[in-house]
Amino acid sequence: MTDSAMRANYTVTIGIECHVQLKTKTKLFSAVDNDARSAEPNTLVSHIDFGLPGALPVLNEKAVELASRAAFALDTTPQKFSKFDRKHYFYPDLPMGYQITQYDEPIIVGGHIDIFVGDERRTVRITRAHLEADAGKSTHPSGSNYSLVDLNRAGTPLLEIVTEPDMRSSVEAAEYAKTLHALVVWLGICDGNMQEGSFRCDVNVSVRKPGAPLGTRREIKNLNSFKFMQQAIDYEIRWQIEQIEDGHKIQQATVLFDPDSGETRMMRSKEDAHDYRYFPDPDLLPLVISADWIARVKGELPELPGQMRERFINDLGLSAYDATTLTASEYF
Ligand code: ADP
Ligand code: MG
Repeated sequence: MTDSAMRANYTVTIGIECHVQLKTKTKLFSAVDNDARSAEPNTLVSHIDFGLPGALPVLNEKAVELASRAAFALDTTPQKFSKFDRKHYFYPDLPMGYQITQYDEPIIVGGHIDIFVGDERRTVRITRAHLEADAGKSTHPSGSNYSLVDLNRAGTPLLEIVTEPDMRSSVEAAEYAKTLHALVVWLGICDGNMQEGSFRCDVNVSVRKPGAPLGTRREIKNLNSFKFMQQAIDYEIRWQIEQIEDGHKIQQATVLFDPDSGETRMMRSKEDAHDYRYFPDPDLLPLVISADWIARVKGELPELPGQMRERFINDLGLSAYDATTLTASEYF
């Protein structure tokens, strides 16, 4: 059977998790400069980012404000009550031994993003979005037998935005990522620099026979270009279908995309939530925000691209295509 004939026998399911680096002046829990671009390694690090014993995190209000803006952009409102949890794992670039994140009570629950594939509107539902502190960075100099750890990025505020498994093709997935990217840049939430990792996506892909329950997913980690995202998904779909056609079962796994070979390869078998031993961070109070504060943030929002698009079509009589093009990226 040809490739495309084989593909026609399967339904593709895709869900995306995007890490959006928030454009704050300082880190999520410490008063240290957040812009590590031109800094020497390990110079933008405080006792809090090092996780020294007794160091206490203090939540950055600006990060909460930017996350709240994101909630409105996703057509919902921020949760009045959310809380922070510890996610435990060991890695040299995580000196605390845990990441501070939001597990079961995140700042955003629900919402959606509308994407346009040609002239057709599709809705991608948002499951949740949570605030979390980034880890540091490990580098492995080529030809060496050691690794270097730079903690400048440790504690950088991220908003992780998770979708429902609502996308059906690599084109839809890339369109979702582009739309979300444009939205967070438009609203001043994120600088959008994908090369530098300010906007990175993990893409979950599974395939199944039409009508069957969802297949087992594999997660492609850390895609930082829309083109690579599309290539990685297409490769992954083909690979999974071949495996199934050959009588194998798909194992849940985390994979990396190698742009040089155009292939994905296994990084690790997937861990489950219970492996992380989540529990509420005793160093941080729950995050409670008032209706007044939420109303103020909402009042300061610019017109959203979706609203502007509708206005261009309804009030100015532009075609859907022109209105989409004009509102596809930040204009001011
Ligand atoms: P985890 O936190 O372990 O990565 P989640 O259940 O939060 O797992 O799901 C992560 C992402 O995977 C979500 O975007 C979700 O929509 C997507 N997803 C879940 N199940 C599937 C599936 N069978 N196929 C494709 N994507 C899926
Ligand atoms: Mg995940």
